[in-house]
Amino acid sequence: MRQNDLDELRGQVDELNTKILDLINERTSVVQEIGKVKEKQGVNRYDPIREREMLNALVQSNEGPIPNGIVEQIFKGIFMSALEIQEDEQRNALLVSRKRKPEDTIVDVNGEKIGNGTPSFVFGPCAVESYEQVLAVAESIKSKGLTMLRGGAYKPRTSPYDFQGLGLEGLKILKRVSNETGLSIVTEIITPAHLEEALEYIDVIQIGARNMQNFELLKEAGMANKPVLLKRGLAATIDEFINAAEYIISKGNSQIMLCERGIRTYERATRNTLDISAVPILKQETHLPVFVDVTHSTGRKDLLLPTAKAAIAVGADGVMAEVHPDPAVALSDAAQQMDIKQFDEFYEELQRFMNTHQIV
Ligand code: PEP
Ligand code: MN
Repeated sequence: MRQNDLDELRGQVDELNTKILDLINERTSVVQEIGKVKEKQGVNRYDPIREREMLNALVQSNEGPIPNGIVEQIFKGIFMSALEIQEDEQRNALLVSRKRKPEDTIVDVNGEKIGNGTPSFVFGPCAVESYEQVLAVAESIKSKGLTMLRGGAYKPRTSPYDFQGLGLEGLKILKRVSNETGLSIVTEIITPAHLEEALEYIDVIQIGARNMQNFELLKEAGMANKPVLLKRGLAATIDEFINAAEYIISKGNSQIMLCERGIRTYERATRNTLDISAVPILKQETHLPVFVDVTHSTGRKDLLLPTAKAAIAVGADGVMAEVHPDPAVALSDAAQQMDIKQFDEFYEELQRFMNTHQIV
């Protein structure tokens, strides 16, 4: 074959490629229209029966030379890509999506601006056990110039026979300490039934890992006028985590902080596996501030400082860790809570790290 003929044929292929591309694009636009109609009707976009019918019709009208199996393969690919484009659009349309709102959401907890570039900190005991216990930690937090105190009044424990928390009594202790120190209270609420009553005692509604997909609780928190700290589920994907936040924001509350707290993997060296890459992914995908809980992710006191440094280095907006005046006798998570002296050292080291790297 002469070079001229080859060039001519290649030219034809190029032209056909362009035509095919135009047609696929046109088809995609029509599918998007269908998607909109389906969305209005509230029906699922993916319809395998319709897909089968289309493939059968194509095979029937196929005059070759492409074998039927390949025709099916090609069109399956075209169908898939249209669906993927729609899924991307749906993800970008989420209220928590950065595509929807490019600027960072700053969460305001009584004047503490979370997500404004300076890391924030939430420290406190795992569980509220007594006024004296909470106060001891609160005073240490306050002496560092920090503003937020955590402590569980309702504890979702793995065993029903373990300490379940002081409940309302615990909330009252937190409130009293808050009144006396000026610290803001971050505490977990485990059921919508407790929420309304709890709101007068607390400043941030924490939704725990075990409740990340408690959709009724998420919706209720979405209707509250207090910020929410949402923890990632024990085995939740980032997509599920983002959708959980969407439940909250969809009810009107956009004051949401996400908290990576480790996920369940086969690794037993740590309590959970800290998914550090979740931080930049969540920062890219959403406009919400992201915390890292170094206590529940590692379950190891010797790893609190290095993981906190990693969290800050990778762009986290805040760090959470547990502190107890006497961890040995703590009613929950005894092994992993820092005592006050360890807390002092931890925070001092972290400050040094932030200063060295000019993270203020
Ligand atoms: C907690 O922070 O008190 C807690 C129970 O953590 P998680 O929900 O992440 O297990
Ligand atoms: Mn704990």
